[in-house]
Amino acid sequence: MSQPRIIVATGNAHKTDEIAAALARAGMQIEVVSAKAVGGMPEVEENADTFAGNARLKAEALRDKVLAQGLDGAANWVLADDSGLEVEALDGAPGIYSARYAGPDATDADNNAKLLNALAGKPPHERGARFTCTLVLLGDGVDETFAGHCPGQILEVPSGDAGFGYDPLFAPDGYEETFAQLGGAVKDRISHRAHACQLLGQWLSASEA
Ligand code: IMP
Repeated sequence: MSQPRIIVATGNAHKTDEIAAALARAGMQIEVVSAKAVGGMPEVEENADTFAGNARLKAEALRDKVLAQGLDGAANWVLADDSGLEVEALDGAPGIYSARYAGPDATDADNNAKLLNALAGKPPHERGARFTCTLVLLGDGVDETFAGHCPGQILEVPSGDAGFGYDPLFAPDGYEETFAQLGGAVKDRISHRAHACQLLGQWLSASEA
């Protein structure tokens, strides 16, 4: 199978670069562009009840747009992701609601404050959590889902300035520092997104003619 270019279902250049870098690390020389290449990401209501379901909604919306523009579906694949944090003691919350845990206009600080509140008084062994990143890849005759995870623990106070979202509260297994303290070099190696991209890279390598 000849390698198509991959159009990522986001307008976020950072996410596109991250995926391109992860695929390069996996040894893939493949063109990765953002949805800007086809005039932007269409509006999608993320109303599925799983990460995979929401990633699929985004991938399908972009796939429809690509085909509606008359682009060759075999040469233009689409890739969408959905990610979030699941906390064991909260039965998997905030989960698919991670971005809007504290309300529709919540900031990262609001979400982190709500999470700390929900876990107040819980000892370390009851603060287990994991990040998940699910990728959905659609192309001609291609429909693949890859899920990456990163287990860890929610600390009692936020620490560090790097990253985004719940990074200041999340210490990955094997580390005492948070993702926001550890920074990009560690995160790019062990994160849920890195693991999902590795699986995608392995699948692409295996499917290469
Ligand atoms: P999205 O999949 O980019 O929409 O991310 C959903 C939400 O999950 C983000 O807004 C964050 O709150 C949270 N999240 C996902 N990945 C990360 C991460 O790597 N670090 C911190 N928070 C994350």
